[in-house]
Amino acid sequence: MNIEDYDEQLKKAGEFHGEICGGIAIGTKLAMYGLELMKMELNQRHKNLIVFLEIDRCMADAVQAVTKCSMGKRSLKQMYYGKFAATFYNIDTEEAIRITDFDANKKNKSKETVEEMKKRFRETPPEKLFTTEKVKVKLKKSQMPGKPHTSTRCSICGERITDGRHLNRGGKPVCIPCAEGAYYEIIEENQ
Ligand SMILES: [Zn+2]
Ligand SMILES: [Zn+2]
Repeated sequence: MNIEDYDEQLKKAGEFHGEICGGIAIGTKLAMYGLELMKMELNQRHKNLIVFLEIDRCMADAVQAVTKCSMGKRSLKQMYYGKFAATFYNIDTEEAIRITDFDANKKNKSKETVEEMKKRFRETPPEKLFTTEKVKVKLKKSQMPGKPHTSTRCSICGERITDGRHLNRGGKPVCIPCAEGAYYEIIEENQ
């Protein structure tokens, strides 16, 4: 992984995120390492790549900017595990590698400034920053990219639900908020 490429990707990730913070610095490195291990080129969209993100912090934006995977393309899956890790999955070959940020899991954090940390991320080879595992990914058909796999209507609120995200209640399709409660509460309905 050459340093000019890193600087180029770091700049792009910083623009996407709004700043180059420590998370963007390490996330850029992680994303580039992932592409390298999957033998995929930079600055391209890869139709056969799905990235599973385990974190929804700064690092996530770097992974999105560098890999060009996105939620809208269904090529970026947010798992909300709260862990500094991501898995790169090739849908064609089913090869998958989970990459973990070594630093995030260290017990004794090194005392360094953000600038020192960013410099270290830039200069250290990825093998020394991350641990990798070969994994087998279980992906349902309904999670694959492409047009919606199923479409139904909630038998309670009547709203459309795609890709099998509905539940069955007494043999009828019901959306998750109707079945389990939503993140919102209706205050006033538009007339
Ligand atoms: Zn940030
Ligand atoms: Zn509903």
